[in-house]
Amino acid sequence: MEIKSSASLVREMKKVGIKPNKALGQNFIIDDNILTKTILASEINKKSGVLEIGPGLGALTHRLSQHALKVVSIELDGKLANHLGNSVLGYGNIKIIHADALKCDLNKIIAENFEGAKVFVVANLPYYITTPLIMKLLEEGLPISSATVMVQNEVAKRIVASHSTADYSAFSIACQFYSAPKVMFTVPPSAFYPPPKVTSAVVRLDVEGHTKPIVADERKFFKVVKAAFGQRRKTLVNALGSSFDMPKAQLKQLVSDVCGNENIRGENLDISKFIKISELIF
Ligand code: SAM
Repeated sequence: MEIKSSASLVREMKKVGIKPNKALGQNFIIDDNILTKTILASEINKKSGVLEIGPGLGALTHRLSQHALKVVSIELDGKLANHLGNSVLGYGNIKIIHADALKCDLNKIIAENFEGAKVFVVANLPYYITTPLIMKLLEEGLPISSATVMVQNEVAKRIVASHSTADYSAFSIACQFYSAPKVMFTVPPSAFYPPPKVTSAVVRLDVEGHTKPIVADERKFFKVVKAAFGQRRKTLVNALGSSFDMPKAQLKQLVSDVCGNENIRGENLDISKFIKISELIF
């Protein structure tokens, strides 16, 4: 069943005995136009495999199934997973998995379900775990073309932020290291039931076609990034000094050589400068 208004959604929830669970980030889409825009933004087609996280009552799931080859949706809430599983029995191309997406072996799920198809993640994410979910999607090297995800607008801004802006963070760098992200459109609270307190945005992170920067030691690169933003108000030299054993005088020289300014803060460095520092620091 497609869900198009809060009234029909509330009716369906009553029938199934479901109340939106705040702790699980359950804000369901009730605006059909947003579903259409999300599908268009994802650029899926009838040959696409779609991995959805958090299908809820299935508004997006049903629409995805009309535009894709196959949809696999992972839902943590047992009642919702069970209800949705029954309601999609008639569809030949939807599979519901009752599991915690953060704990799933997503590479295995993709290999088992989408053989030969290009795979796209499309989801209205549960906001309480947006960052770890996106990091999981990107860090595990999944064979996905892109991830089109609804997130809080504040998070969307962080994902695409450039250096020297207030929204720039270690998360911005990770997203832009593994993908080419862009904000597709914003979504008002009235598009959901219950309405969240914040504005949302759909972001697409393109993995296919994005060249990951070459870094000798990725672990060290991210250690440098984390150290720089862990103490954001400190100069980069002082922030790095807390996490690396390099003598301060050498650290100063290194930062000065790479950035032309030994008093610079981490938030002012682009990814290429973080890479250079990670290659020279010890
Ligand atoms: N896709 C639906 C929609 O747009 O109407 C629901 C989106 S709602 C924002 C997030 C959904 O993610 C809820 O159904 C919630 O139960 C589910 N969820 C929360 N934590 C999850 C997790 N760790 N793994 C999988 N699903 C989760």
